[in-house]
Amino acid sequence: METRHVPVLIVGGGPVGLALAGDLGWRGVHCELVERTDGTITSPKMNEVNARSMEFCRRWGIAKQVHDCPFPGDWPLDVVFVTNLAGYELGRLRRPPRNHQVNQDYGPERLQACSQTWFDPILRAFAESFPTVRLRHRTRLEWFEDRGDCVVADITDLETGSRTRVTADYLVGCDGANSMVRQALGIGLVGKGVLGTPVNLFFRAPNLLDQCGKQPGTFFLGMDREGLWANIRIIDPEAGLWRIMAFDSGGRTAEDIDREAMVRRAVGRPIEVEWAGVSTWTRRSAVAERYSKGRVLLAGDAVHQLSPTGALGMNTGLGDAVDLGWKLAATVKGWGGPQLLASYDAERRPVGHRNVAMTTNFFSAQDSYAGGLAAIDDDSDAGDRLRTEIGDRLVRDVGAMFQTIGLQLGYRYEDSPIVIPDGTPATPDRPDTIVPSARPGARAPHLWMSDGRSSLDLFERGFTLLRVGADAPDGGDIAAAAAARGVPLETESLDEAGANDLYACRLALIRPDGHVAWRGDTVSDAGQIIDRVRGA
Ligand SMILES: Cc1cc2nc3c(=O)[nH]c(=O)nc-3n(C[C@H](O)[C@H](O)[C@H](O)COP(=O)(O)OP(=O)(O)OC[C@H]3O[C@@H](n4cnc5c(N)ncnc54)[C@H](O)[C@@H]3O)c2cc1C
Repeated sequence: METRHVPVLIVGGGPVGLALAGDLGWRGVHCELVERTDGTITSPKMNEVNARSMEFCRRWGIAKQVHDCPFPGDWPLDVVFVTNLAGYELGRLRRPPRNHQVNQDYGPERLQACSQTWFDPILRAFAESFPTVRLRHRTRLEWFEDRGDCVVADITDLETGSRTRVTADYLVGCDGANSMVRQALGIGLVGKGVLGTPVNLFFRAPNLLDQCGKQPGTFFLGMDREGLWANIRIIDPEAGLWRIMAFDSGGRTAEDIDREAMVRRAVGRPIEVEWAGVSTWTRRSAVAERYSKGRVLLAGDAVHQLSPTGALGMNTGLGDAVDLGWKLAATVKGWGGPQLLASYDAERRPVGHRNVAMTTNFFSAQDSYAGGLAAIDDDSDAGDRLRTEIGDRLVRDVGAMFQTIGLQLGYRYEDSPIVIPDGTPATPDRPDTIVPSARPGARAPHLWMSDGRSSLDLFERGFTLLRVGADAPDGGDIAAAAAARGVPLETESLDEAGANDLYACRLALIRPDGHVAWRGDTVSDAGQIIDRVRGA
């Protein structure tokens, strides 16, 4: 059998595996990714790339491709509660179209509607653009073993049937919810487990909203006498591609689903559609007991399974990939200390629990509408009163899952062994609000600079020593201590008005993933700081 060696072997070419391959390539690390399919997205799951993921894309230089994806820039992202598409509108949460999004104080990027059909190919092209990255589609991982000094893995080329043995310094399982890698390691899942078995129906129906007399929106939630039963999402307005997600399959398989009846219920009347796919899937709420074992690490749905309520599944996985990318790069290149990779579990598993808990709460909020809905579509005063009352409740309670800027940007690594705490109290971690903070562990906060850039644009691939304010000290021996240990570090100045208040310090050390590792006004032991943040 042919044998070859790669520093990092990634299993799974979904968005998380592709993002990790891209991040490693961007950092100049050799890696190989194996994906058993040819990468074609037959039924897109993910549609919303959140603000933090967009900041990653900005750093990688691919944010423009996401902005320019075929989702029309003038299409409102509104969330609309309806009795059915042709029926009463119960409430509307306005979210402006991409072309009308205005700059925000919290950061340079905002959530984008970009279906997986477009997003995965953008990530794939990004990863493929690096000569150090090898993507092998139609290739399956069959078996692996951690030998202590390397991982040995057997992969099969599904086109030719030929088998190859690969040795790798590290193997990363990005192989999805039924992760073979996680199961082979004997790592279990904790949490509520299965929450339900929804059905996804994909169909094309151009001009459906016009036919139904509805103002444009992107996400419609259907509430009838039975309660809240489905969401109806436009995936590609140009192509008229829609998805109905009915929350409960009623135990039926995809083949047994009465598709016409579901469309009739969602639209409120029979319509002609062109079918584009039907599938059932399992809604779960679970986090892995651990994110790594020896030389094998796990990321994405392999370690956290979230209800899509809140659109955090892939976005959480991209956060894993970005946390892992620089740590793997540092370890492979030799400047990362022996504790660096261990900090991956310490940092990302609590985020997995946080995001799983919040999205499960959002899902539960959908469930609390049963009974008392008999008049919901009555053309009467009682019907009007009920619709107003229910509409207000829906916008407030169910609408919370669309107002998550705190969830998107506010995760922090405060208990991490490679973050140096400064004794200041934690800022609140609220789903709907972000309280910008440079407290160690937090995402380094953003500030618009006079040249039009975001302060986040100052951060490069290595560490950044940020001199904050006009009279910031020069950073003492930090640059020298980093250089002595081979740690890449650039020094940048941020002296815009408000920088000192925002950072609450005169010096801040920003990690290669954009989180604050340390802050202070003076440097007492530069070597100790650099050793701690590189996991030595
Ligand atoms: C209806 C729905 C809507 C969603 N909407 C959103 C959203 O708007 N935003 C969001 O962030 N998330 C959303 N999600 C969640 C998101 O789709 C997932 O979290 C994301 O796809 C997980 O990515 P992943 O790369 O970890 O896993 P996957 O996408 O599952 O990819 C894993 C890959 O590994 C491959 N693989 C598995 N085993 C092997 C093997 N042995 N050898 C080789 N390859 C292997 C598989 O073929 C697969 O391609 C949604 C999910 C659903 C169900």
